[in-house]
Parts: sequence; C-alpha cells; structure tokens
Amino acid sequence: MTEQIKLNPYEARLIEAMLPLSTTDIWEQAKKEWYLTHIEEGVGNCACGKNPIKYLCFLKNKMTSNEVIVGSTCADKYLQIYTDCLFKDLAILAGEKIAFLSEQNLRITYDLQYINDWEYSFYNDIKSKWDIKKLSEKQHKIVDKIHGQVAKIIKPKEAAP
Ligand SMILES: [Zn+2]
Repeated sequence: MTEQIKLNPYEARLIEAMLPLSTTDIWEQAKKEWYLTHIEEGVGNCACGKNPIKYLCFLKNKMTSNEVIVGSTCADKYLQIYTDCLFKDLAILAGEKIAFLSEQNLRITYDLQYINDWEYSFYNDIKSKWDIKKLSEKQHKIVDKIHGQVAKIIKPKEAAP
C-alpha cells in the first residue's frame, strides 16, 4: 500500500537530523534503531529545532551508538517512544507525592532494566492488592527501593553524556 505522507516541518527536521545518525535511509526502519536511555526535566533543544523544550528525552541508536535529545512531544508523536508517563510520575520519584507509579512507567523502566524481574512482579502485585498508605514498614522499604531504581531514569544535566 502506498500512502502519500505529508510531513510537518518539525517532523521533517527531526528526520533530517536523525537519519544521518542511523544505519538506513528509510525512516520507518531507522526509527526502530532508537531507544530511550533516560529523561530529564530542564531546558534544551529538540533535534527538530524546537527550542526551548522542558521535557528532554535522551535517545540512543542501538546500531551506531549515536545520541540525540528530543522533546517528549516528538518522542511520542514521531518515534512512538512514549515518555509522558515518566514525566507525570516525577513528583512520586522525587518523593514529593506518595502514590504508586503508573503501569506504563513501570513497564518502560523494566524494559530498560532499571528494575529487575522480581521488583517488577513484586510491585505489580502489591499495587493490585494494597493501598500505598497502608503498607507495612517492610513493604514500604521495598517500594521505596524500587522507586529509587526507577528514579535513575532521571539524570541531572551534569551527568548526561
Ligand atoms: Zn521536536
């Protein structure tokens, strides 16, 4: 099936910036080479040229090891790398809000190996059965530890490559 794809200027610039850093000239294939390494809330530029952006997503190409920064909107819309759930849970990860992390957040961080199999199933299990405010001290400690692991997906600007 052939389809006339109309690109908006942001998408066109994003492709122009990322294709040379990928191994193929076919965007639909090239974008599969890119994965999220971490996120950051701050000030920066998106690879599409949008400036400033507040929600920075650090992507790496698994074939070439090249890296780019894109905004969460471009990550979501053009690369199908969904990071909204991570930014939505920032207050929980910063310890400013007591709540369970979203299912998508947990899944993404599990896929990126910030948490292991055991932590992933423990968390899902406890989340489905308990109110976070009614956890035992022991359960709370484990949940806090998992939140600490997930929080590693947020890196301070100085530590970014
Ligand atoms: Zn962008």
